[in-house]
Amino acid sequence: MNYNKKTVKDVEVTGKKVLLRCDFNVPMAKDGSGVITDDKRIRAALPTLQYLLEQGAAVIACSHMGKPKGEVKPELSLKPVAVRLSELLGREVMMANDVVGEDAMAKAAALQPGQVLLLENTRFEKGETKNDPALAKALASMAQLYVSDAFGAVHRAHASTAGVADYLPAVSGFLIQKELEVIGGALANPKRPLVAILGGSKVSSKIGVINNLLEIADTIIIGGGMAYTFSAAQGGKIGNSLCEADWQDYANEMVAKAAQKGVKLLLPVDTVCGDKFAADANTMTVNAGEIPDGWEGLDIGPKTVELYCNAVKDAGTVIWNGPMGVFEFPAFAKGTEAVAQALSQTDAITIIGGGDSAAAVQQLGYADKMTHISTGGGASLEFMEGKELPGVACLLDK
Ligand code: ADP
Ligand code: MG
Repeated sequence: MNYNKKTVKDVEVTGKKVLLRCDFNVPMAKDGSGVITDDKRIRAALPTLQYLLEQGAAVIACSHMGKPKGEVKPELSLKPVAVRLSELLGREVMMANDVVGEDAMAKAAALQPGQVLLLENTRFEKGETKNDPALAKALASMAQLYVSDAFGAVHRAHASTAGVADYLPAVSGFLIQKELEVIGGALANPKRPLVAILGGSKVSSKIGVINNLLEIADTIIIGGGMAYTFSAAQGGKIGNSLCEADWQDYANEMVAKAAQKGVKLLLPVDTVCGDKFAADANTMTVNAGEIPDGWEGLDIGPKTVELYCNAVKDAGTVIWNGPMGVFEFPAFAKGTEAVAQALSQTDAITIIGGGDSAAAVQQLGYADKMTHISTGGGASLEFMEGKELPGVACLLDK
């Protein structure tokens, strides 16, 4: 995939109506009160939005929220986002009552340079997730330029993330530009050695990433729940640890492929176990492959921490996807925290991909020490798998 895409700086935006696809899929309070519990994604959209307004564009912003499945669900309305966005921008944000209906069309038509209109949740329209050309065309009809800044949605070929680019010149905003530069750069032309740290719960969800990074990385580090499938595949005793029996052969294949390619593949040498999957479990540290019955591996052990931290010390680039243990329970967060700390201390380019990994780094207080924390969980995963991202592929090449 070509990552060298035109940005808002490469095209004339002054006096134009711009359809800006944002990722305003923010978490909302469960009580239906319309309270946004984390506005990070709204703040992330500000640089591009402000740039467009300063340049004298009229901005028609759009986004999905949640999964309304083509129906109007008041609890998934973007109205609270318009309110918060207006506070952050310090200017009025008009809200359309629909996506491409009469209200949206009339408000878009009347929009003046420097003004912002937010359309309703794009997934209120059935055609959104089907990438219906009629919806894409209707969205495009409101504007003269399409700017995509919703990295969190670029792995989906939907009407507002990709289809619309068939009808308008399409460029990226600053958020996507940075994702492409940093992650794309690390994949295409990494500063070496490139160390990939892969963890999380399941091998099956990371197969594509392991496979792709085996072609690129110098070292691959395996942690988290998926390490026990590797351990079991090598004949280790893993007690009640997470294990995907169907993926044991694959795990062995990956070990063999790494050896054949000269990629260093590191597996845990010890593990912190719990006697149940709970924050208050009793804990015990054992060697890898020696987990007693009735216990399960929930974090990497101290010898593994040392091994892994050493492996990232002299790295040129580190890509991290997937926590080393069940970091949500403080008793099993030490491995993840130690790796986060080691990354904060290297001179390497450090890239965090994956929703839970990003949350872990934030929760543990290392977020501002990383070069880049991806704003897209699923999108960064597919990026690292080497897949084409429809929301990026549709943008104009530089
Ligand atoms: P990401 O979102 O960063 O890609 P994943 O979704 O693959 O990461 O995995 C994150 C989850 O993996 C976390 O909720 C964490 O609790 C879980 N996890 C990590 N290690 C283990 C383990 N040993 N046993 C069970 N779950 C684990
Ligand atoms: Mg996850």
